[in-house]
Amino acid sequence: AKIYPDAHADGGFHTVLEDFDLDLRSGEFVSLLGPSGCGKSTFLNILAGLETYDGGDVLVDGRHVEGVNSDVGVVFQSYALFPWLTAQKNVEAGLKIRGVPRAERRERAAEVLRTVGLSAAANRLPHQLSGGMRQRVAIARVLAYEPEILVFDEPFAALDAQTREFLQGELLRIWESGRTRKTVLFVTHSIDEAIFLSDRIAVMTQSPGRVKDHIEVDLPRPRTSQSR
Ligand code: ATP
Ligand code: MG
Repeated sequence: AKIYPDAHADGGFHTVLEDFDLDLRSGEFVSLLGPSGCGKSTFLNILAGLETYDGGDVLVDGRHVEGVNSDVGVVFQSYALFPWLTAQKNVEAGLKIRGVPRAERRERAAEVLRTVGLSAAANRLPHQLSGGMRQRVAIARVLAYEPEILVFDEPFAALDAQTREFLQGELLRIWESGRTRKTVLFVTHSIDEAIFLSDRIAVMTQSPGRVKDHIEVDLPRPRTSQSR
């Protein structure tokens, strides 16, 4: 459970994620849907150790998560790139946290940027890139970082339909290529996107002010990025 103070400063509190349970199996792609404000981002941030929680357990591989969880890599809706660093340096930043030596950082960042089709833009700053390109840098950064769990919080929501469709295909292609076939938790408001990408869809449901439960739907695999 996560308890937040109420916005209208009367000393009240509200609880989100009450009785919310979600098991992620290793190597599966799970989409998480649910109405705005039901607690999806809160759940993601708790999983990544970016937010505290007030009750319950977060276990990754049987281990309790405390503090920032380096097994989890996050891609946010709004890119969260360092504006003063080039695309290449942004990707390297993730590797620096991992303690990867400088020369190897450069090499691996270049390789991942190639994977997402951004070699030509490696030396550009974020403001010199389009939204879709920035999101590809954010994806490259998390891929380079190689976390056990990849977490995406509505990563394509701000993009036009064509770019979104392109990046969905790219993400699936990269994921299916096997190199980064990690556990993925993908938050989206698009049921089409969830069906296209995932092995399993979980829907957080909400009664007023409270998350009650969630519904899960399994989807058949294998599909490929070509099957659309
Ligand atoms: P969306 O689909 O709009 O992104 P969400 O499912 O990600 O919504 P959260 O951002 O997790 O929802 O928020 C869940 C609830 O917690 C909301 O009621 C929100 O108002 C509340 N909340 C989130 N962050 C805070 C905060 N820092 N302080 C107080 N309340 C918060
Ligand atoms: Mg959210």
